[in-house]
Amino acid sequence: MNLTAMTACATCRRVLTEHRHDGQLEYRHPVVEARHAVIPVDAAQVQRPFNRCHLCTDELPVWNYRTGLIQILAYEAGALLNYNDHWHVCYQCAQHIEADDLDALTTRCAAIVGWHPGSDEYAELGLLYRGILYGREGRTLLTTTTWPAARITAEMLPKVRDRLTGLLRCTADLPEPLNNPGQRKTLASQLDLIPMYWINEEFTRRVKAHSADQPPARINDELLPTQAGLLAWPGPVGDTGQLAAVSWTPRSDGWQLIGYRSIGSALVDDLMPALRHEIGWLLPIHAEYVPRRTALEGRHPLGPLVTTWLLTKQQMAEAVLAKLPKGTAKAYQRSQRPAPDVRIVQIKPRSDTTARSSTDGTKGPTRAKPDHRYWVSGHQRQQAHGPGWSLHKTIDIEPFLKGDEDLPIKLSSTIRVLGSAKKDGGTSSREQ
Ligand SMILES: [Zn+2]
Ligand SMILES: [Zn+2]
Repeated sequence: MNLTAMTACATCRRVLTEHRHDGQLEYRHPVVEARHAVIPVDAAQVQRPFNRCHLCTDELPVWNYRTGLIQILAYEAGALLNYNDHWHVCYQCAQHIEADDLDALTTRCAAIVGWHPGSDEYAELGLLYRGILYGREGRTLLTTTTWPAARITAEMLPKVRDRLTGLLRCTADLPEPLNNPGQRKTLASQLDLIPMYWINEEFTRRVKAHSADQPPARINDELLPTQAGLLAWPGPVGDTGQLAAVSWTPRSDGWQLIGYRSIGSALVDDLMPALRHEIGWLLPIHAEYVPRRTALEGRHPLGPLVTTWLLTKQQMAEAVLAKLPKGTAKAYQRSQRPAPDVRIVQIKPRSDTTARSSTDGTKGPTRAKPDHRYWVSGHQRQQAHGPGWSLHKTIDIEPFLKGDEDLPIKLSSTIRVLGSAKKDGGTSSREQ
């Protein structure tokens, strides 16, 4: 399930608030009823949708606060103004709300538009914010905000993981598919113990180059390096350029996969430590239960994870234990936790692969050898086993990337059917 979908108004480009009533989804303009009717469209189709804090209109929204429906009677106009009951609030405004500091909140927001204390506008704003601040019923983490991406390093991973488990254990709500209290608790304790994988720059470049064309691969125990894990790339990957990390944890007959986007520094500096402590680096953007042997292709929102697994499995990469700063190990010791297990996944030393590919004893590429790299699709094979070969089991043969590593990339035949008919057109330019 995609957790980043936003709806905006086609007329005014503002991102709308979503309200569920008896299973019906309804959209409203942010803050206050507009003079025009809402025309809800997918925000991805709107040019530069306006998605900012509803209070200060200045910063990216972090939380969705819920209140009762706020209505204010404007005496002079003699009209009843309908405000909202959902409020997308930035990190700084939320700090004032959490501190119950109405004056600080009003002063901050009024100053942005140049309204002075004592003016009518300032008083009206204060009235509305009083309703929000004292009428708040709870808040949900917004996963729709498009943050600039963070750089993630292997050394950071234990902390990144711990902040994520902290977020799962906090009292604020998460988006629906991740909000079940029992499941949040279970997931947090699973994440406490998982190995973490950091994909190095070189291998990430290769994953990016091959992911879009990767044919479907079956998710099974042989493909996964471990039953559970958290895997992060140094920078975002995938079709939308948003995927920073993925966690996988066993659940009934399959795995729970969660994809995350990263939060880069986008706030005034003195607020970043507080945000890192409270929310961390990772925001869930895609949650999916994947039954054992589900086939996922590279274009799937979590496809780069599968490509990373496939290329690792075909021994293009190796995982080595990361050396973590002494402070990290000591901090874990103090809290009586086992030392974090961080593995750096990197391309195998070149001599290895060259040795393997030239075992036929000839010099340079021969005619029989491919002159490009391409995916060979996966398939299933029935294998006989047991007494008298009487039983059969299904063996998954995973997609395989063929060809020497410095050769250009060519789309696999499976994908070419869907793509353009141009011969080799533009594909080799991907490997930069
Ligand atoms: Zn509108
Ligand atoms: Zn704000």
